[in-house]
Amino acid sequence: MQQIYFFNEGRRDMRSLLGGKGANLAEMTHLGLPVPQGFTISTVACHEYEKNQNQLPTALQAEIVQSLERLEAITDKKFNSVQTPLLVSVRSGAAISMPGMMDTILNLGLNDQTVIGLAEQTHNERFAWDCYRRLLQMFGNVVYGMPEQNFESVLADFKRRNGYRTDLDLTAADLKAIVGRFQELYLESEHGAFPQAPEKQLSLAVAAVFTSWQNSRAKVYRQLHHIDGNIGTAVNVQAMVFGNSGADSGTGVAFTRDPVTGEKKVFGEFLQNAQGEDVVSGVRTPQGLSAMEAMSPQAYQQFLTAVAKLEQHYHDMQDVEFTLEHGKLYFLQTRSGKRTAKAAVKIAVDQVNEGLIERNAALLRVDPEQISNLLHPEFAAATLAAQTPLTKGLPASPGAASGKIYFTAASAKAAHEAGEKVILVRQDTSPEDIAGMVVSEAIVTSRGGMTSHAAVVARGMGKCGVVGCAHLVVDQEKQQVTINGTVFPEGSELSVDGASGQIYQGLLEATQATQDENLQTILSWAQAVGQMDVYANADTPSDFAQALDFGANGIGLTRTEHMFFKADRLLKMRRLIIAGTVSDRVEPLAELEELQTEDFYQLYSLAQGKTVTIRLLDPPLNEFLPHDAKELAQVAGALNMSVSALEKRVAVLHEANPMLGHRGSRLAVTYPDIYEMQVTAIINAALRLKQAGVPVKPHIMLPLIDTLPELQWVKARLVAKINDLLAHAQTSLHYQIGIMVEMPRACMVADELATEADFFSFGTNDLTQLTFGYSRDDIGSFLPTYLEQGILKEDPFKTLDVEGVGKLMKMAVDKGRYQRRSLPIGVCGELGGDPASIQYFAEIGIDYVSVSPFRVPSAILACAQAAI
Ligand code: ADP
Ligand code: MG
Ligand code: MG
Repeated sequence: MQQIYFFNEGRRDMRSLLGGKGANLAEMTHLGLPVPQGFTISTVACHEYEKNQNQLPTALQAEIVQSLERLEAITDKKFNSVQTPLLVSVRSGAAISMPGMMDTILNLGLNDQTVIGLAEQTHNERFAWDCYRRLLQMFGNVVYGMPEQNFESVLADFKRRNGYRTDLDLTAADLKAIVGRFQELYLESEHGAFPQAPEKQLSLAVAAVFTSWQNSRAKVYRQLHHIDGNIGTAVNVQAMVFGNSGADSGTGVAFTRDPVTGEKKVFGEFLQNAQGEDVVSGVRTPQGLSAMEAMSPQAYQQFLTAVAKLEQHYHDMQDVEFTLEHGKLYFLQTRSGKRTAKAAVKIAVDQVNEGLIERNAALLRVDPEQISNLLHPEFAAATLAAQTPLTKGLPASPGAASGKIYFTAASAKAAHEAGEKVILVRQDTSPEDIAGMVVSEAIVTSRGGMTSHAAVVARGMGKCGVVGCAHLVVDQEKQQVTINGTVFPEGSELSVDGASGQIYQGLLEATQATQDENLQTILSWAQAVGQMDVYANADTPSDFAQALDFGANGIGLTRTEHMFFKADRLLKMRRLIIAGTVSDRVEPLAELEELQTEDFYQLYSLAQGKTVTIRLLDPPLNEFLPHDAKELAQVAGALNMSVSALEKRVAVLHEANPMLGHRGSRLAVTYPDIYEMQVTAIINAALRLKQAGVPVKPHIMLPLIDTLPELQWVKARLVAKINDLLAHAQTSLHYQIGIMVEMPRACMVADELATEADFFSFGTNDLTQLTFGYSRDDIGSFLPTYLEQGILKEDPFKTLDVEGVGKLMKMAVDKGRYQRRSLPIGVCGELGGDPASIQYFAEIGIDYVSVSPFRVPSAILACAQAAI
């Protein structure tokens, strides 16, 4: 079985076999772009390696040897040859790009002999020894896990002693001495001497890449981005080209469009006389592409033509890595470029207008999760005008954030867990910092450019990010940062403006973002394509107004209990619950009815004829009860009763398991007057609008229904009440009474329930809770372990469990529609806004999803994607 493919044997559609990097190196080779030749060891080999207890199988070893011979023939160089040494890079690459996650080794093949050959052959001793010290560093770190810091401190030491500013000041003699010192580090480690045989170096490196697939930072990244751990990685072995071979050489990274704004203009960074990781790791702050143009106008023109061709070919914005060796251009990588949400929508709209892609392709291009970033806050111009920034860096990722500063991933995590808003401040970030970045509101670095690791990851996560703040000096040891002479210790409060790159002292208040025109265009295209409606979960007029503004079609869920938790109403509600008899309830009910009528009136006025679905009271009664002695005394006073009488009443209402207790429609059966009051408020509010000529569509929703007799019992009461009201008003009104489908039993008898319910709305939170038997409030104690151990792939409260809960839902849909073909069915609850779950809802024929206001735009887009 073939496990290795040369670049000219692959194509871009072989990603799962060759990984993204390998497939695209192959594609660029076919396009005739200058790519240093090499081969890809496939993901199949990665699986074989894992099956073989993390040892390279013999068959694979043989295939590697053969492939090397072939590469020697192609390049006319030889492994371990002093005259013409072949040097290679060993680069990992999975099917899904994981920037900075896996490790790369450059200059492999150098040893104490070949380094002398390379120096002679290139007439550049400094260069040869620089390559060797890099190999020792990367190999030690990646293959043997020797701390990067050990190597770095040797380098820093050398520079300090000689008064050098940068690595470029190191002379050939210095580098030789450094190599000597690095080799001592190997001898001092448990691994022993650096392996001199290139074949040995290669097999160790390949094995290390395969093993690194399982390292913890790769796992964190995969979990964050929902990437399957079983796909494995490929390894690319590629002939080296040298960006560090002199002043006419260099290395760079470029995007075919601006990844922050989306502007159609090649954007990139370049470092003269440097090798690979120097640009991406942010160790040196790079120059713009103009530096390359100045160095070699011809190569620059060739570069522009090539990247334009790449974008045309891939129909998408590309992120390329390239190197100039003595003025000759080479491409080392291309992939779809990561971009901010703002850039994503602009590029998608522009490319449709340019005729490069179709509308549907544009809709698929934008990540629904990401566009909520566009709705995220910014600092108002007036707020900023009143402030003087402390300093300014590069605006790597937009957003506005305020919080306390921390200098390590661990302290950031701890502060976050203690409930603080955190800003992670670092000199530069490395993949180990991911865990800290996840919990931070913003990321700030003192070094690095727009394509540094910190910048790329911040954009990917939609976090506010400012990088390359030159006037910000981080002191890791003292846990403090000095900004233009002022010292800020850990925990100091700063504000970060990702849009401008400015940093401010103190906590500034952020405001809602203004609407993005390109987002509007994308959403209007999406609405034309989507088959499902998007409603909002809104309890207040301002939430609803926000949701309408974002394009909601109505309200799919108003949780009326939220209306009672307001301070002035809570007491009325308490009086109601504590009242022992029906007659004691008359007065508080009348007061609440008046308030509710006004609530509903406002929602219906905003809706202007759109559906407004109001769910009758649901929470366990004891949520309204006083919890401690102080509250007891207060409430007893307010209600004019003795503390002991109140205590007795509270004890009667106490439940061992409130979430499974006296709530939802069960409340309607024991306290029918509460639901009657709510229905009265709904109908009277609707009638007021109807009389004023405003169209109204009241939908009444009953929570927690289990059985048909229960539904019939409650519904009969409500219908009788409504008929009374309508008769009294001498008018008629179209209204619906539907049910939440959130009990597994309701799914089983959905056909019966459909005889009485005007509509179904799945409550995915309770349905998931009850189907798994997982208490949503207690899941934190075991869920992380379940995810870590792979027992669950996803948190079922974040993404629908298609196999279990999804099957129940499908059954309920089928049974419901078997009874009544036109039965409207929606989904409210958290999962309604989850793009992956929406895909499934579309498949089983759900009519609408109802989501929180800020998720409306992403749900609209996800519905369109589900329909394409
Ligand atoms: P990552 O996935 O972290 O981007 P890469 O495998 O792309 O890692 O390697 C990082 C950098 O190393 C590349 O951007 C490139 O500049 C450099 N590099 C990799 N292979 C070669 C090569 N054969 N010749 C010269 N530079 C290389
Ligand atoms: Mg890397
Ligand atoms: Mg790369």
